[in-house]
Amino acid sequence: MIDLKEVKGIGLNTLKYLNDLGINTLEDLVTYYPFRYDVYKKTDMSNVNDGDHVVLDGICENNPNVYYFSKKLNKMSLRLNTGTKIYNVTIFNRAYLKNKIKPAMGLTVIGKYDAKHNSIVASNMEFGMLLKPKIIPIYHSNFKINSKKIHQIISKVIDKVSVHDYIPVYLNEKYNFISKDLALKIIHNPNNLKELKAAKDKLKYEELFVFMAKMNYLKSSNKINLGLKREVDFTLIKNFINNLPFSLTKDQLKAINDIYEDLTSPRQMNRLLQGDVGSGKTIVSFVALYINYLSGYQGALMAPTEILAIQHYNNMQNLFPDLKIGLLKGKLKAKERRELLQELAMGQIDVVIGTHALISDDVEYKNLGLVITDEQHRFGVSQRGNLKNKGLTPDILYMSATPIPRTYALTLYGDMDISNIKTVPNGRKKVETILKSNKEIKDVLYLMLEELKKGHQIYVVAPLVEESEKIDLENVNELYEKMQKAFGKICNIGILHGKMTNSEKDSVMKEFKEGKVKILVSTTVIEVGVDVANATMIVIFDAFRFGLSALHQLRGRVGRNDFESYCILISDKETKRLKILTGTNDGFKISEEDFKLRGSGDLFGLRQSGDMHFKIADLKQDFELLLTAKEDSMEYLKKEQSDEYLKNMLQVSSSLD
Ligand code: ADP
Ligand code: MG
Repeated sequence: MIDLKEVKGIGLNTLKYLNDLGINTLEDLVTYYPFRYDVYKKTDMSNVNDGDHVVLDGICENNPNVYYFSKKLNKMSLRLNTGTKIYNVTIFNRAYLKNKIKPAMGLTVIGKYDAKHNSIVASNMEFGMLLKPKIIPIYHSNFKINSKKIHQIISKVIDKVSVHDYIPVYLNEKYNFISKDLALKIIHNPNNLKELKAAKDKLKYEELFVFMAKMNYLKSSNKINLGLKREVDFTLIKNFINNLPFSLTKDQLKAINDIYEDLTSPRQMNRLLQGDVGSGKTIVSFVALYINYLSGYQGALMAPTEILAIQHYNNMQNLFPDLKIGLLKGKLKAKERRELLQELAMGQIDVVIGTHALISDDVEYKNLGLVITDEQHRFGVSQRGNLKNKGLTPDILYMSATPIPRTYALTLYGDMDISNIKTVPNGRKKVETILKSNKEIKDVLYLMLEELKKGHQIYVVAPLVEESEKIDLENVNELYEKMQKAFGKICNIGILHGKMTNSEKDSVMKEFKEGKVKILVSTTVIEVGVDVANATMIVIFDAFRFGLSALHQLRGRVGRNDFESYCILISDKETKRLKILTGTNDGFKISEEDFKLRGSGDLFGLRQSGDMHFKIADLKQDFELLLTAKEDSMEYLKKEQSDEYLKNMLQVSSSLD
């Protein structure tokens, strides 16, 4: 793996910005794929309407004029002669181009047509005429580095890179795939749509092939492994269940039973526990940890975020005061961490709860018998592999609130066992979902006030902007200020976003839980698992920007007690997704609909990393390809019979020549 530091022409600052995007190696860089392409194709200007998006080229007629509104804000205008007509073109904040643009120069302009003034308000401008359609790759970018710059950096190195191709030669031949190096070049600089498709086909297949090979490999190694034998008296578990402040639902009991059977059988457990948000998976996982403890083993519970890990830790410690439970956070003081690790290694800790810090190399267990991962789709296959290898052959339980439609689950997980919790606990009220437009914001504020008067709490979620963290942050800050203005006098308002440190996040969450903070303004950080029963309303701005499952997860933050609860979706567009959401509270239905409507990328949330997060393939669109890759990989693994291939595959190799 070549560190980006060793690549010439990438300055220190740029390096840091790339690192922030998760790009650390040369391989990361060249496989940082565009998430879409803009195609610049000349618009037929004889047939345009006011407000249309247009692409046109022509000759610049004059020296551009620049008007400064302020130091930072300016407007440049020029006249563009297309050969048939002359248009006035304006563009904002490009004063720096003034001296580069001269009369008689060819220009390509991308923007909006304004019929009344026969002008174009340009969003982009390129030097030269557009001789043939141009395909511009668009990358996810952040604060400091934009898509264009990323493209430049990649273009600089791409010709010199040679990357390992994981597809065996005979399969490359069978499908007539182009070489991987060529595919990478094309994916970042396609000349036409046809070659772009060939490049995508190659890279998608490779990604799915590697994924399926890993899955199949892990599965086959599971089968060989014999699980732990345990003897646990079920009456102890019954007693515990009977002493809970609530009675468990039928599905919860069934899941516990499934798990008990698995744990006490000599086979290794490999089970997925699926259940809608708020269906009560956590308590099931605690009981599983208890069974494991009673049989004399340590257990580990891995959560996707620190907030969630802390929540689980507190809850479990409350329910099991006699158990020694450890909390392994990313940012423990060196001494605390050392002590905790020592206790773990000595077997003084019965259950450890943490984030993926649990799978760090230095974490050793004395006798790990059960590993549970919450929100399992957020973790990668290889990460889970690591965890498993820490102990003898621990039993495995995965939990997920995003149910995967059964066919897909079976394809991906094959022989994994599945327990479903289909009902939410009794007494849980349906969350009333209300659609409002931005114009109706006053109504929304009144509804919020009503809830506050009742002493309830409210989540406010800022619009999500996938392409830019900067805008994300601006949005959440702006919303916070609005809320301050509206409610600052009557209650405390907290803010939560990804740029805060963990301890800042923890302290806000704590205040919200304790009811000191009444309104929590946040990005989707709260999406996963957070449980504050007194929160009865969630207000989601620009709801159309979120995927269906993400919205459903967010909605699941409320409706956690006997009070009426509300989810207010603010959106000026009424989409099919939002209608589905107002129509049903059933997560299984929603996930099916989501799968029908959109690709897997959206189903599992664009920003999530983990199994389902493919860089280029899409589970839904490429489902046929996945099936092919699955069969091919199984056949290949049978032939290969060696770990070498897998080891190579997990290791990334690329070189500069
Ligand atoms: P999820 O499945 O989304 O992880 P949780 O396990 O966080 O859901 O459960 C949500 C809330 O419901 C928790 O406060 C939990 O204590 C409560 N709960 C779980 N099971 C029941 C039940 N059978 N009856 C009443 N409340 C329950
Ligand atoms: Mg949960």
